[in-house]
Amino acid sequence: MIPPGFTGAGLDRADQLRVDAARLAEALAHAEASVLAMQGLEPELDEASRLVWSPINGHAIERLILLGFDGEVPRFAPIADVAPHGTAAMYLFKLISELDAREAAIWAAARSLNEWHARHRFCGVCGTPTEPFRAGWGRRCGGCGAENFPRVDPVVIMLAEHDGRVLVGRQHRYPPGRYSALAGFLEPGESIEEAVARELFEEAGLRVGAVRYVTSQPWPFPYSLMMACMAEAEDDSLTLDTTEIEAAFWVDRAGVRAALDAAPDAPFQAPPPYAIAHTLLRWWVEQED
Ligand SMILES: [Zn+2]
Repeated sequence: MIPPGFTGAGLDRADQLRVDAARLAEALAHAEASVLAMQGLEPELDEASRLVWSPINGHAIERLILLGFDGEVPRFAPIADVAPHGTAAMYLFKLISELDAREAAIWAAARSLNEWHARHRFCGVCGTPTEPFRAGWGRRCGGCGAENFPRVDPVVIMLAEHDGRVLVGRQHRYPPGRYSALAGFLEPGESIEEAVARELFEEAGLRVGAVRYVTSQPWPFPYSLMMACMAEAEDDSLTLDTTEIEAAFWVDRAGVRAALDAAPDAPFQAPPPYAIAHTLLRWWVEQED
């Protein structure tokens, strides 16, 4: 399987350094230590669409996130102090498609952490302002001392399968022709399998049997974990929730293959390669019928 987008950063996250002030100061003073150049939450790129790394230049450790070590080189990201963005502007997706896969993963972690900082400036317990600690991997309340750690929101994304075909659907906001796997947030009190079954029933009226986990990816808008699954549908009749899903249809391997190859006669436009729905569709066409 081709690794999903936003994976493969390959940095040593050096968790033990986050609470070790002396070693953290040493990392900051390293001759090659560098900070990811960001414009707010988005990456600053050079002419070759590569990430830009700047020297530390007096950045205070309190305003930095230790992303990890690239070999011996400590890599930091700024705590950007910007308003949260949530979903990305369309231009950003073009830019992401041009990024090297490893660099996309490094930036995605910096973006998610910054979104989290931006949304957790006040204590959820007592309302006092919070400050970063643990080298940017936490925030602590200045009032009651409550500690908060970066969160991820789990999302299930799945293909229902029936008789050699899978279900693809489109949301109203998708570009024309685009269809993808159905998806939804996992709720408290649910297993992954239960969330997959619930979402497929709510959005498409499908009852499913076995659910199989396939792969996952961090999705930095703002900080989801996409968990890609296959589900065996009991039949192929659909009842769409049209507030969520504009249209959906069953497609066989030839149709999915044509979509992934962007063939002119493809039955739909596939999601882009950095989206895990793309990875999942590609994985499925490579399975035996
Ligand atoms: Zn507090």
